[in-house]
Amino acid sequence: MDTYQIAVIPGDGIGPDVTNEAMKVLEALQELDDAFEVNFKLFDWRSEYYLQHGQMMPDNGLDQLREFDAILFGAVGDARVPDEISIWQLIMPIRKQFQQYINMRPIKKLAGIDSPLKNGSPIDFMVFRENAEGEYSNIGGRLYQEQPQEMAIQNTVITRQGVERIAKYAFEYAKKNNKTKVTSATKSNAIIHSMKLWDEAIEKVAVDYEEIALESYFIDALAAYFVMRPESFEVVVASNLFGDILTDLGAALVGGLGVSPSGNINPERNFPSMFEAIHGSAPDIAGKGIANPIAQIWSAALMLEHLGRPDLAAAIVSSIENVLQEGEVLTPDLGGNSTTSEVGDRIVEEVKKQLITH
Ligand code: NAD
Ligand code: MN
Repeated sequence: MDTYQIAVIPGDGIGPDVTNEAMKVLEALQELDDAFEVNFKLFDWRSEYYLQHGQMMPDNGLDQLREFDAILFGAVGDARVPDEISIWQLIMPIRKQFQQYINMRPIKKLAGIDSPLKNGSPIDFMVFRENAEGEYSNIGGRLYQEQPQEMAIQNTVITRQGVERIAKYAFEYAKKNNKTKVTSATKSNAIIHSMKLWDEAIEKVAVDYEEIALESYFIDALAAYFVMRPESFEVVVASNLFGDILTDLGAALVGGLGVSPSGNINPERNFPSMFEAIHGSAPDIAGKGIANPIAQIWSAALMLEHLGRPDLAAAIVSSIENVLQEGEVLTPDLGGNSTTSEVGDRIVEEVKKQLITH
C-alpha cells in the first residue's frame, strides 16, 4: 500500500472549485486501487487569510508543508489584496525555498481539442521554465517616487548553476523520452549580461548530450514559431519570465488556460513538489461554478507521475481525452454549458470505467 500525504492549498477565486474536482478524482482512484491511498490536509492560506492575519501564511507555513509528499495548489489573486502580496508571500516562497527550480508545463493538444490554428498538426512538447531565479526577483527598487524623474530598477538574477541544472534536467528528459532536440529561448542580442550567461551555460551542458541537438532562438521569434510551426518543438527550456509567457501562448494553441497543467518540481526530492494549473484565480468567472477543472485534474495527474504512479496518471489523462472527444460535458471555455463539478463527475466516471475494465 502506498499512502501519500498531500497538502492542499485551494486559494482564491476558481482555485477551490477546480481543486475540489482534482481531489474528487484522486479519491476515486483510491477506491479503485487497493494499493493507492491519499490523505489530504487543507490549508486555508488565501487572500481572506491575509485580510484576517496580515500575512498570506503563518510564520512557520513552510515548515508545516515540508513533510508532505506533494502540494496541490489552486490559485491566488483577489481584488482586495495586491497581487504582489498574494504571489510573493505564498507562491514564491514555496517555489524558491523548496527549490522547485523546474516548472514543467506540457503543451499537448489532447484528443478532442480544437486548436485555433488551422493546419491541425499534432502539438506535443514540454516546456521547462526556470522557476527559482531569473526575472522574477525582488531585487531592485524605486527612486524619486511620484516625481517626473521617477525610476524603477528591477534586477534579473541568472546564475551559472541555476541555468546548468535546468538545462541538464531538460536534456535528461529529452534523452529519456527519445527526443531529438532541445530549444532554448534567449534574448542575448539585447539582454547582454544575463542572457549571454544563459546561452553559455546551456551550451556547456549540451556538449554532454551529443545525440540531442540544441537550438536557440530569440524569444520574440520563438513566440512566432510557436504559432507558425508548433509541431516542430519537442523540449523547450526558458527563463522564468520567458517561460511564463511562452506557456500561456502554448496553452492558447491547445485549448486554453482551462486545460493547461503544471508541476513545480524539486528534482532532488529534498522538499515537496507543487502541482497547479497554470491559470490564476480568474476573477471574471469566479463564483459562477463554470471554471474548467481539467487543467487542475491534469496537474494532479502530473503529481501522481512524480509520486511514482504513471499508470494512474495515464488513466486520468486518457479519461480527460475521452470526455473531450465525447464533447457532451464541457465548460463554456470549450464551448459547452456544463458546470465545473459536472465535468469533474464525468471524468470520475471515465476513470472508473478505465480502471475497472483494465
Ligand atoms: P487568469 O489565468 O486567472 O485568467 C485569464 C483568463 O483565462 C480569464 O478570462 C479567465 O476566465 C480564463 N480562465 C483561467 N482559468 C480558467 C479555467 N480553469 N476555466 C475557464 N477559464 C479560465 O489570469 P489573470 O486574469 O491574468 O489573473 C487573475 C488573478 O490570478 C490575478 O490576481 C493574478 O495575479 C492571479 N494569478 C495567479 C496565479 C497563481 O496562483 N499561480 C497565476 C496567474 C495569475
Ligand atoms: Mn503565468
